[in-house]
Amino acid sequence: MERSLDDVRDNLRIIEQTIGESCLKAGRRPEEVTLLGVTKTVEPDRINAAIAAGLNHIGENRVQEYLGKRDDLNLTGVEVHLIGHLQTNKVSRIVGTVDMIESVDSVHLAEAIDDASRKLNRVTDVLVEVNIGGEEAKSGVSPEELTDILENIGTFSGIRVRGLMTVPPILETEKEKRAVFSKMYKLFIDIKAKTIDNVCMDILSMGMSADYREAILEGATMVRVGSALFGRRQYPVL
Ligand SMILES: *Cc1c(COP(=O)(O)O)cnc(C)c1O
Repeated sequence: MERSLDDVRDNLRIIEQTIGESCLKAGRRPEEVTLLGVTKTVEPDRINAAIAAGLNHIGENRVQEYLGKRDDLNLTGVEVHLIGHLQTNKVSRIVGTVDMIESVDSVHLAEAIDDASRKLNRVTDVLVEVNIGGEEAKSGVSPEELTDILENIGTFSGIRVRGLMTVPPILETEKEKRAVFSKMYKLFIDIKAKTIDNVCMDILSMGMSADYREAILEGATMVRVGSALFGRRQYPVL
């Protein structure tokens, strides 16, 4: 399917402008918020068009898909984050090929990342994913177990915890969305105040196409935007 690449550039400008407006409304500086373009199912030429227009952080969901497209991407100066659920048996293939893994949801997974990182003599930056809505079907650790898990992961020398990530429940009203993001921000601040060894809390990754404005109003430092940037996804995945 042929689609013009201009729309990607136009969308990027609109999103950057919206981020700026949300920051202004929240009394924050636009530099406090990083835009991560979510590139799952997106063809390399569209991703490269966004990069050429200034996008410098991208997020992929699946190890296999990312490794398959990677050689066709112009990744100079671009940070790549893995944001999808990661199985331990795929860890050794992804460590060393991405700059951050945002979806760490168990000590077991962290241990595997630690192991693979130390074998490569690296330290991998990670975020711990929190299931803020307590949804059965979603991955992420519960707010109640978060401190214990961070204390545990903090002992791994091959990992550096940089903050938290969440995919909240789908909500309708602005008020409901903001309430969930605000709960997440509070958790982020509480953990930060605890100063756990080896755990730094400078990234709070929350907000997607439908709710990144609300996320910024409530303190997100990274928003993960896919469809608003690249258009509606066309499944199946590559
Ligand atoms: C797909 C995805 C996004 C982006 O979703 P959009 O609604 O397309 O912006 C963000 N975060 C995660 C974890 C995703 O899987």
